[in-house]
Amino acid sequence: MNDIRKYDMCDVAVIGGGPAGLAAAIELKKNGIEKVVVFDREAEAGGIPRHCGHPPFGICEYKRVLTGPAYARRMVKTATDAGVTILLKTTVTSLGSEGVLSTISSDGPGKLQAKRILLATGTREIPRSARMVSGQRALGICNTGTLQSMVYLKNRIPFRRPVVVGTEIVSFSALFTCRKAGIKPVAMLEEESHTAVRWPINYGAKLFRVPLLLQTHIVSINGHDRVESVRICDTNGNEKEMSCDGVLFTGQFTPESSLARMSHLQINQITGEPIVDQHGRCSDPNYYAAGNIVFKPVKVAGKCWKVGRTTARWIAKDLAER
Ligand SMILES: Cc1cc2nc3c(=O)[nH]c(=O)nc-3n(C[C@H](O)[C@H](O)[C@H](O)COP(=O)(O)OP(=O)(O)OC[C@H]3O[C@@H](n4cnc5c(N)ncnc54)[C@H](O)[C@@H]3O)c2cc1C
Repeated sequence: MNDIRKYDMCDVAVIGGGPAGLAAAIELKKNGIEKVVVFDREAEAGGIPRHCGHPPFGICEYKRVLTGPAYARRMVKTATDAGVTILLKTTVTSLGSEGVLSTISSDGPGKLQAKRILLATGTREIPRSARMVSGQRALGICNTGTLQSMVYLKNRIPFRRPVVVGTEIVSFSALFTCRKAGIKPVAMLEEESHTAVRWPINYGAKLFRVPLLLQTHIVSINGHDRVESVRICDTNGNEKEMSCDGVLFTGQFTPESSLARMSHLQINQITGEPIVDQHGRCSDPNYYAAGNIVFKPVKVAGKCWKVGRTTARWIAKDLAER
């Protein structure tokens, strides 16, 4: 139930209901913490795995291979069974000193004070606007997260023949999603002389029969209403036009730390993540951070889950010593 007034005070508030946040919340309950509230701005908790409709998730957590949505559902069930309160469609909009949080939900604005707060807001791929690619703002340009939520959550297909930019592990996840949706990428581009992740992406492109163009970058996107082609360039400066109906930007993650950046917490000016000590504690000792918000490069769900648990134990210890 989304009644925030009921929780105007709680022991620990967790911002973000992805693998790190949910694992931490479950562990806090196991450690005897009474009121644990998880906030998530989405209509369902589970974080990114909710829209990764492919395996492998859950190997170290549940000792089995699950798809992302099955993994997300399982974590949410474990959390609610453990007595964690999950407040959905509730965005935390500011972090105050003394652990006071401002929120906004369909019930309007709210405030909550927590003894400790865990930031577990994850990461996101850098959008096209920040990638210095010229051209118009035509339809058919997105990143992996958007593609996956369109395909798996909304049953929509943004393009049929996109160019895929990037060769990180998430790019492999993007190829999986394309195959599932019947999308046939025309090429996969990588600026370097090798793929960003050696395995499985170097086999992935072959497996999915997508031509892999190394030492090649995208110069501009052409098309007025919808993407019609891209201009690509190799290291020798040879440019050519490639026909396509979309551009899928993958990887190049940046921490989802807008909240932390607007707050009094100290931020690493280079990576954009909140500065934490070895226990995940931020510059304000009431605040902690865990999961992909503090990982560079980003980690898989199992690692975020594990670190969420460890950080929860530190929070429980901290509260007990208080
Ligand atoms: C496209 C993609 C594919 C991936 N595929 C795989 C894979 O196949 N296997 C694998 O193991 N890993 C995969 N990963 C990595 C894995 O999903 C992440 O490592 C993991 O989800 C990170 O967990 P997290 O809890 O740190 O953050 P997230 O899962 O990102 O969760 C963060 C949550 O915080 C919420 N939130 C953010 N800001 C606020 C706010 N202000 N107020 C309230 N809520 C907020 C968000 O709604 C979100 O639910 C993939 C990642 C991406 C991006």
